[in-house]
Amino acid sequence: SSIYAAPGDKGSVAQYRSRYGHYIGGEFVEPIKGEYFEDITPVTGKPFCEVGRGTAEDINRAVETAWKAFASWRHTSPAERGVILNKIADRIEQNLEMIAVAETWENGKPVRETLAADIPLAVDHFRYFAGVLRAQEGGISQIDENTVAYHFNEPLGVVGQIIPWNFPILMATWKLAPALAAGNCVVLKPAEQTPASILLLFDLIGDLLPPGVVNIVNGFGIEAGAPLASHKRIRKIAFTGETTTGRLIMQYASQNLIPVTLELGGKSPNIFFEDVAAAQDSYYEKAKEGFAMFALNQGEVCTCPSRALIQRSIYDSFLADGLDRVSRIKQGNPLDPETMIGAQASNDQLEKILSYIQIGKEEGAKVLTGGERVDLGGDLTDGYYVAPTVFEGQNSMRIFQEEIFGPVLSVTSFDGYDDAITTANDTLYGLGAGLWSRSADICYRAGRAIEAGRVWTNTYHQYPAHAAFGGYKQSGIGRENHLQMLAHYQQTKNLLVSY
Ligand code: NAD
Repeated sequence: SSIYAAPGDKGSVAQYRSRYGHYIGGEFVEPIKGEYFEDITPVTGKPFCEVGRGTAEDINRAVETAWKAFASWRHTSPAERGVILNKIADRIEQNLEMIAVAETWENGKPVRETLAADIPLAVDHFRYFAGVLRAQEGGISQIDENTVAYHFNEPLGVVGQIIPWNFPILMATWKLAPALAAGNCVVLKPAEQTPASILLLFDLIGDLLPPGVVNIVNGFGIEAGAPLASHKRIRKIAFTGETTTGRLIMQYASQNLIPVTLELGGKSPNIFFEDVAAAQDSYYEKAKEGFAMFALNQGEVCTCPSRALIQRSIYDSFLADGLDRVSRIKQGNPLDPETMIGAQASNDQLEKILSYIQIGKEEGAKVLTGGERVDLGGDLTDGYYVAPTVFEGQNSMRIFQEEIFGPVLSVTSFDGYDDAITTANDTLYGLGAGLWSRSADICYRAGRAIEAGRVWTNTYHQYPAHAAFGGYKQSGIGRENHLQMLAHYQQTKNLLVSY
């Protein structure tokens, strides 16, 4: 398979506009203050387009536009909305390669992932909410002989959504599909590192929705995100990002007493029990694969299995085999379909990861592999590449406790079941966890004992639309995906009627 041409070059399947404003009322509009900022591709470290720099004025305009659209959107039936969401899914699927290449260019993740996972998952997500909506029922309770209580699921109105840069299209989809299915209108703010792929998406699918139902205001956290989250006329704020930002979002929301959904950080344990090594079979191969999953999406995943806990009796042998698997992760040009690990999404993120590698070294953790920036040469020489890095140390170290959000794994050993659970739960976070054991008993008990919203057992990094996803502890509030997500975008109307 040949390397995809870069957007901007002749023959590329994806081309960006050189400049994007905000997407408000079904069209691209200039930012009110007329300012733009550069969007940089991490593949080469060079800017590739300009995007409108949003302010409170743009947010006001988008919120007003969304309320106007809500006046009729709220009266569409679940079936009508389902048809639209299915059309959106079809349009994305028909343009899958184009969107995948565009997102790779903006985010730096390998095109093999955007082609096989990010964009197909986005398609399925729209289809899931298009269908599941129609299965949702209100309830009728008979109060007495002549009195009946009817329950209706009503939309909230205009909702705000703020998303991060690690899965631009998929994070937008996770938020938009349930909100629209439930009958809300939306003002969405993409991350300032990756707005263009979402704008390109709306260039493509925008005509399928009535104008104003979805509005996108670009810009930075304080300038555009805070005015959205604290806006008096939004009825909910849904946020994915850092735990520290999540605290601020909750403060803003408290001023207007609106509900929040928060999907925040993680420091997920990946636990390998000794029976994993009982035979050198396909199960063992899968477990090694699971060990290397920390590098998926360059480690920029909130559920990144960034702490590997290996039972002492198999520690040396399993670690050696796991490191062998890590050495086969092919790093390279993200537009090459053979590449498994691409570029970190931004220079800030690159710097953050390198500083944590330094912290790990200073606190006495041992570098088993990687531990540095990678220069891929040629056009890619200024791209943001970091070698998959594995540290050996103790769970009390900062590299075991703080979210790095890069391809950095911290490994330690444990002595038995109780030690495994105690170490796994010794974290502020509780988003994901991985369990590897051939024993159904161990898997069940450990799965229930681990304080995390998603526990993968003998697998990792699967994100089906119909499995509830979200955090325990400081990893968040509320759930995404699954039928129960609709409830986060609805309120219950009760009509109590005497006949
Ligand atoms: P971030 O919190 O800095 O930014 C996320 C978004 O919030 C961006 O759009 C940003 O502009 C906006 N923002 C920043 N400050 C704001 C403010 N004061 N008011 C309103 N909006 C503001 O996070 P990040 O570094 O861009 O993203 C990485 C983080 O996201 C990681 O911590 C990761 O774990 C988390 N994440 C979580 C999930 C999940 O589902 N739990 C998924 C992906 C990423």
